[in-house]
Amino acid sequence: MNIEQVYKDANALLDGHFLLASGNHSSRYLQSAKVMEYPKKASLLTDALATMIKDAGIEVDTVCAPALGGVLTGYELARSLDVRSIFVEKKDGGMELRRGFSIKKGEKIIICEDIVTTGGSALKAAKAIEELGGEVVAFASLANRGFCKRVDGNSTAKEQCALPANVPLFALADFTFEMYAPEDCPLCKEGKTEAIKPGSKS
Ligand code: ZN
Repeated sequence: MNIEQVYKDANALLDGHFLLASGNHSSRYLQSAKVMEYPKKASLLTDALATMIKDAGIEVDTVCAPALGGVLTGYELARSLDVRSIFVEKKDGGMELRRGFSIKKGEKIIICEDIVTTGGSALKAAKAIEELGGEVVAFASLANRGFCKRVDGNSTAKEQCALPANVPLFALADFTFEMYAPEDCPLCKEGKTEAIKPGSKS
């Protein structure tokens, strides 16, 4: 499966001039939710991710996603792995389990995201799970922005990566885009377009 093509076909990989949450500019942007728009196509992606996880011999009881971004991917990955699906939600800068979800001591849990940039949300989810006695056996994501090292990927972990080095990260592809400080942005220098904010808040 050509993952980049799947993202392009779903209009999830955008070309243009974008203002990122970090304040930097970029000519490409991943609109991750778009790739989950059609459930049957989404399940092909999580089937591929589940195969990587099974091939690595990872045993898993439950998939846990940080809301909101990871919920759809986590649910589909749980279906692909034929395990339980739960999610954690934001609370006071961290994450917590709500809605009657519970976990058992020693329960083997995969933290699942749609996209891992620095892995900050995934790490918060992992901490919430570990505080309840769960064991985080892996991280999983459809896309890896290239700051963290994924299993079978070429890139090395950058200092921005928040994920622990001793827990594997499974992802279908690395998407490493050039980012520019606004004053150094070649697209701004061209002067034809203004950077737009394509994220979840617009
Ligand atoms: Zn720019």
